[in-house]
Amino acid sequence: MKVKIVQWHAVASWTWDAQDETCGICRMPFDGCCPDCKLPGDDCPLIWGQCNHAFHLHCILKWVNSQTSQAHCPMCRREWHFKD
Ligand SMILES: [Zn+2]
Ligand SMILES: [Zn+2]
Ligand SMILES: [Zn+2]
Repeated sequence: MKVKIVQWHAVASWTWDAQDETCGICRMPFDGCCPDCKLPGDDCPLIWGQCNHAFHLHCILKWVNSQTSQAHCPMCRREWHFKD
C-alpha cells in the first residue's frame, strides 16, 4: 500500500508586519528569504530603519557594508540607521 503525503504544505503560515511586500534590495518577497538564505523565518529576519523601510537583515547589512561612507536607505535615500 502506497502512502501519499497530502498535507505537504502544512507549514504554519506567518507574515512579517511590513508595509511593503518585497525587499527593496533583493526584490524578494518578505514572506520569503533573501537570496543568500534557503529558508525564510527567524534565520533571515527583517530589520527596520529609522525611516521605517524594512529589508532583509542580510540584504541591508550587505548594502551598508558596500557603502564607503554613511549608508543611505536604498528606498528613500535618507541616512540609514537601524531602528531600535
Ligand atoms: Zn532582501
Ligand atoms: Zn537571509
Ligand atoms: Zn527609507
